[in-house]
Amino acid sequence: MVRRLFKTAMAWALHRSGADQFIGRMDGFRSMPLVLCYHRVVEDFAASARKTMPAMLISTRTLERQLDWIGRRFCFVSLEELGSWLEGEKNISRPVAAVIFDDGYRDVHTHAFPLLKRKGIPAAVSVVTDFIGTSEMQIYDRLYGLLLRRFVGRPSGAEDLGRLLAAVGIRRPADAALLSLTKEPHKTLSALVRELPQAEILRLIKVLEAGVDIPENDRLEFRSLDWAMLAEMHRAGISIASHTKSHALLTNESRQTVLEEVQGSRRELERRMGIEVKHIAYPDGHFNSAVIDAVAASGYRFGYTTCSHRDSRYPLLTVPRTILWENACMDFTGSFSPAILSCQIHRVFDFASGCRQPHASNRADYRRPRFVEIQS
Ligand SMILES: [Zn+2]
Ligand SMILES: [Zn+2]
Repeated sequence: MVRRLFKTAMAWALHRSGADQFIGRMDGFRSMPLVLCYHRVVEDFAASARKTMPAMLISTRTLERQLDWIGRRFCFVSLEELGSWLEGEKNISRPVAAVIFDDGYRDVHTHAFPLLKRKGIPAAVSVVTDFIGTSEMQIYDRLYGLLLRRFVGRPSGAEDLGRLLAAVGIRRPADAALLSLTKEPHKTLSALVRELPQAEILRLIKVLEAGVDIPENDRLEFRSLDWAMLAEMHRAGISIASHTKSHALLTNESRQTVLEEVQGSRRELERRMGIEVKHIAYPDGHFNSAVIDAVAASGYRFGYTTCSHRDSRYPLLTVPRTILWENACMDFTGSFSPAILSCQIHRVFDFASGCRQPHASNRADYRRPRFVEIQS
């Protein structure tokens, strides 16, 4: 509450004084388009937020308010138009904005697609190809659901998880992340998925599934798009990007796995959809120089992150995005705040909090470890 009050006051002061735009310019904002990142789109935010990570969600109503506000200030473009713009064809006089829905959830088809069609907004979806057309939950959702059911709400939940990780020989996250399990389980999830290679996450899921189960009914709302939905959206002007095969956090994987993830998803999309796939969004926005090398070698031309750092060798493979969700622009009273939205799109809060990713290749099996040159 105190944090939200502070954020509201800071955003209001920055926005009224025009300082948000000034900070945005310092961060190279004017020379870059606005690229927004959303995940799931739901009818009832509060109900869905009890079952998943709240920052993955936005209600249809809030999405419409955010897009309306942005649409009055920016020209929405497709990923193809954004690509041309980034490559130097600056033939649009207004500032440009693109909208990407990550992960390829089915609720984007149900709730966002009708809204986008009605408003004529040419958005994009970045999809995890192994899950398209299946009823399986994606890996983060599955792990989060299991943590919720097995540990959250129990007084000894954090200790029990710590003990279980030790017993099966999986590296435990920092104490603070473990202890946040009760009140902010998404922080525990983040710490686990950011530290562990996917094989270890899958092993942990197996161990947890021996004790609890996520009922079929609860899994339904996490379903991904199917191929027919994707084709329908593509016909209506929605661009398709890759978000890897299985949503492996690429900076935690070997070069071989990174190549399989990025090439496999691209091949599958091209084969199934008959399109050329040039755009990729990095899972969790995580990248380092070795990941960028692999993505460049796999034929992608545009890559989307979630922070301001750019690889000076491949600036188009490190295009910053702004993540928005239901409460990203709420003031302390819980109302939609244009001042906070303005600060979000000018990346003022990024500027204040910084990026904690190392962006340096740290695995011995990467052949050419090199440091990303930080430009911003
Ligand atoms: Zn994702
Ligand atoms: Zn960064």
